[in-house]
Amino acid sequence: MDFDRILEEIAQHVRPCFGKGRVADYIPALAAVPGDKFGMALRTVDGGYHEIGDARERFSIQSISKVFTLNIAVSYVGEALWRRVGREPSGNPFNSLVQLEYEQGIPRNPMINAGAIVVSDVLLTHCDDAKQTLLDRLRALSGAADVGFDPVVARSEAETGFINRALASFLKGHGNLENEVEAVLDLYFHQCALAMSCSELSMAALHLANGGVSPLLGAAVLTPQQSKRVNAVMLTCGLYDAVGEFAFRVGLPAKSGVGGGIVAVLPGHYAVAVWSPELDESGNSTVGGAALEHLTTLTGHSVF
Ligand code: GLU
Repeated sequence: MDFDRILEEIAQHVRPCFGKGRVADYIPALAAVPGDKFGMALRTVDGGYHEIGDARERFSIQSISKVFTLNIAVSYVGEALWRRVGREPSGNPFNSLVQLEYEQGIPRNPMINAGAIVVSDVLLTHCDDAKQTLLDRLRALSGAADVGFDPVVARSEAETGFINRALASFLKGHGNLENEVEAVLDLYFHQCALAMSCSELSMAALHLANGGVSPLLGAAVLTPQQSKRVNAVMLTCGLYDAVGEFAFRVGLPAKSGVGGGIVAVLPGHYAVAVWSPELDESGNSTVGGAALEHLTTLTGHSVF
């Protein structure tokens, strides 16, 4: 497969998509990012690497971090996690409080904010220093020793995260947080503020295309079953309330973030990361979604 040519074709195809979405503005630090950025990086399980555009520029990975915290939580508590978080699509906005209320404090899935806050709580309980554990994991998986939190974004999240604060308080009120609300939110806001490039993210996610084994580390990060399950949760819950539309158009397990990044995997073949900051009304990158749709169309391969 000539991925270099395919990425070039994708970059041409997505040009008309710019200007149709809006850069996230509810977190002030994200509003400052130029909307015309576009980068894409694809890594195959057999060591191939292909990139185009701003693939090495770091951006705020936001909710893509939910995949990596879920990885860590699953490796600590295994099946017990699913007593505290569901695994069904939410069909609601990613920060919905209403749904959490009528489901008595059990979030629908770990890819929406409430579910990710419970996952952060698991990390806090099980790690001596949860932020450091998360950094260590991402640095190891991506091979980039200087991956870090963007302090400006983290502060911005903390200063404006009123809805997340409400979600966490509600979870605490329902007995679904073991640690203090502010401690859990501090970790959650920092994970959202991780800055990584498409190149780094494609490496960090490659174990999900490879049965849980990181080709970089030559070691299992997850069991094959855990890897299958994380991919299943991404496929059914990774794109907010537009997950059905994304499966219809793209056909890959994926996770998006409001920084404009999307990570996707084709199990057995590759992990791909795309970044372009303009978002549609569901919070997914407009250009990123179009790029991934072209990828599965031009290659003729998806999970379906
Ligand atoms: N930091 C964002 C929030 O919690 C993450 C949202 C997202 O990327 O889905 O609202």
